[in-house]
Amino acid sequence: MKYKHYTIPIFVPQEGCPFKCIYCNQFTITGGIETVNAMYVEETIEEHLKTIPENSYIEVGFFGGSFTGIQLSRQNELLSVAKRYKERGAIKGIRLSTRPDYINEKILQNLLEYGVTAIELGLQSMDESVLEASYRGHTPDDTRRAANLIKKYSFDLGLQMMIGLPNDDYYKDIRTAREIISMKADFVRLYPTLVIKNTYLEKLFKEGIYKPLTVEETIKICKDIMLLFTLADIPIIRLGLQTSDSINDNSDVIAGPFAPNIGEMVESALIRDMVLYYLRGRVNNDIIELTVNPLMMSKLVGYKRRNIELFKKELDCEVIIIQDEKLEKDMVKIEYNDNSMEINKKKYAMDAIKEGIIELT
Ligand code: SF4
Repeated sequence: MKYKHYTIPIFVPQEGCPFKCIYCNQFTITGGIETVNAMYVEETIEEHLKTIPENSYIEVGFFGGSFTGIQLSRQNELLSVAKRYKERGAIKGIRLSTRPDYINEKILQNLLEYGVTAIELGLQSMDESVLEASYRGHTPDDTRRAANLIKKYSFDLGLQMMIGLPNDDYYKDIRTAREIISMKADFVRLYPTLVIKNTYLEKLFKEGIYKPLTVEETIKICKDIMLLFTLADIPIIRLGLQTSDSINDNSDVIAGPFAPNIGEMVESALIRDMVLYYLRGRVNNDIIELTVNPLMMSKLVGYKRRNIELFKKELDCEVIIIQDEKLEKDMVKIEYNDNSMEINKKKYAMDAIKEGIIELT
């Protein structure tokens, strides 16, 4: 039986964060952290537990950028509440996010004692010049060292990357994704860079020095990164807005590839590529049946039926869409004439790379 996964989020603001990451407005924010205390954690957990169905896999997640950078006594005050719930069996895991340079053996030993199960590092890029231009204040080597230590202590390792930062480009993003794979991440988050109000990036954007990615460019880069992680069996648990770190609400976004459903747009574009790849040159004036799990329906059809119209036009065929809840969630079954095949992202990535149609280098 598959358990549904729930993470009870607890946002720990970074009061007086000593860093000045170019895309983040949190270092200007003061106040807030005092209200995040043991009582707040307990109330938040209780509140969520009332609404989460029984037999779910429940975790508590401390988000906000740099958990292990806050005072140790404060960390332990918050963790001890989560630990109590874990010992009671009310939750199964405790996760938190932090910076690569806020990880060392002493810190990890402490987290182990409080029952932490997963640690997410905001590495953003593995390219030195991108990190420098973004004023991240850590190096790719800090990330490699931290990731190694986290693995050594047997925590689940989550890695967060951003695309579209200053000095970044497609090839640097692909190299970052490859390094994430070599660091053996258990899961990843992928965030396209947005220009947020009251950030240095806003100033650079207004002076015409920084040019954000378009939605189309974002989809192209994310599609290829998604294929790489699919091949490596690393799940992307979030593709979208960098909400945890610096966006308080949508009105904060000045520019950039802002689309709340960007993850769905990327998946939809990928399915379109897959179907065209397997059918182009093989059909003409035929009837094509495409079957998917109902959960995949909107991704197959695309925004305003764009994918279906494109299939009809490019393949010169009739297209029939069928839903089948028995079909695996990531599968597309293609039938035409007497032919039938089932495809998914992994198969597509392997076939297309083998034939040199896509180059993920
Ligand atoms: S992204 Fe995190 S580390 Fe960087 S300035 Fe914002 S809160 Fe501080």
